[in-house]
Amino acid sequence: MVHMRSVEEHARAIADLLSSTEVGATTLTRAQGLVLGTDLLAPLDLPPFANSAMDGYAVRAADVQALPTVLPVTQDIPAGRTDVAPLQPGSAARIMTGAPLPPGADLIVQVERTDGGDRQVRIDSAPAPGTHIRAIGEDVHRGDVVLAAGTVIGAPQIGVAAALGYAELPLRRPLRTMVLSTGTELVAPGNPLEPGQIYESNAPMLAAALTAIHAEATIEHFVADDVNALRAGLDKAATGGHEAVDLIITSGGVSAGAYEVVKDALTGQGIEFAKVAMQPGMPQGAGRYRGIPMVTLPGNPVSSYVSFEVFLRPAIRAAMGHPDVTRPTVSAPLSAPLDSPAGKRQFRRGHLNTVDGTVAAWGGPGSHLLAWLAGADCMLVVPEDVTHLDAGEPVEVWLLG
Ligand code: AMP
Ligand code: MG
Repeated sequence: MVHMRSVEEHARAIADLLSSTEVGATTLTRAQGLVLGTDLLAPLDLPPFANSAMDGYAVRAADVQALPTVLPVTQDIPAGRTDVAPLQPGSAARIMTGAPLPPGADLIVQVERTDGGDRQVRIDSAPAPGTHIRAIGEDVHRGDVVLAAGTVIGAPQIGVAAALGYAELPLRRPLRTMVLSTGTELVAPGNPLEPGQIYESNAPMLAAALTAIHAEATIEHFVADDVNALRAGLDKAATGGHEAVDLIITSGGVSAGAYEVVKDALTGQGIEFAKVAMQPGMPQGAGRYRGIPMVTLPGNPVSSYVSFEVFLRPAIRAAMGHPDVTRPTVSAPLSAPLDSPAGKRQFRRGHLNTVDGTVAAWGGPGSHLLAWLAGADCMLVVPEDVTHLDAGEPVEVWLLG
């Protein structure tokens, strides 16, 4: 048997092709899912000023010792007032949630403990001094590292950045990819199908998988099994100037038959084709086309998707600065026995039973079973040297999601 590349060897070859993307100022609306390139310091305190946590009355604790009492209301302070005067002893200020505390006040009496008056107010009861006051800097101190380099930006991180006044963040930019399918049998969805033709599904699927990890994906129109057509498609990616893509991903045309257009066009042209000891996804290729990193995936839809999960997803996430590049992985007992080919790492579509914690293979091993992939929620990983697992035996599970 010919020597096959291990999954790890091929994963390293692909990871080595990609350089880290640069850090650039990115608006908050484009920040989701990207990674912070440098520490983010707080340019101000949060809250930036002492303010009320309740709608009510700002008072001095000394003025509400004997209750009930009636105090004149000397100011009305809605949120947004920028000219708040000090609170004179023996008076109250009507105040709303988020409004600045008048200097001298040390307690907020909620409106529910009063008669709600606006010229004078009767206070029936009062909480302890300091109550319902949000102190300056209680959440963040100016100068603190509020988000560390390497943080993945999600909704809460965007929230705190905006609260600190940042309109842009220093983020690692998305990797720019081009996806190109090959196959004379392919027809774009939405068009009529002749006998012997199939709809092109790899490019939209891969583009969606790339977008889900916040990379940029451009779909180049698929090409027939024709070396010149393929070269013309690839050259579009290679001639994009400074906007050139960081990675070209093709599918199809790399296995052992005739008309393997990718192999025919690119063997000896900077792409190394290899058999990788895995199922599905054995025929693979990687290298550079006119200097641009390129990965050639097998054409079977499930092989293409599994190859993305195993090789591209971690490599791209690493290039985009993610601290954690793999899918969440657990070990779970099988609910039914499973066979696996000797000498190959098997990746099976799986289904996790969240009630009893067992997993099962979801559909057969065939790499054309795209609907079963669409129904799976995990991938089962069976090592190269394991050919059979009994029900109840643990298996490695990658949670897709
Ligand atoms: P290939 O690797 O080109 O020999 O393709 C292997 C199998 O995958 C064949 O059955 C192809 O028709 C199918 N296939 C290849 N590319 C695509 C694609 N983009 N969309 C759907 N099926 C494909
Ligand atoms: Mg083909």
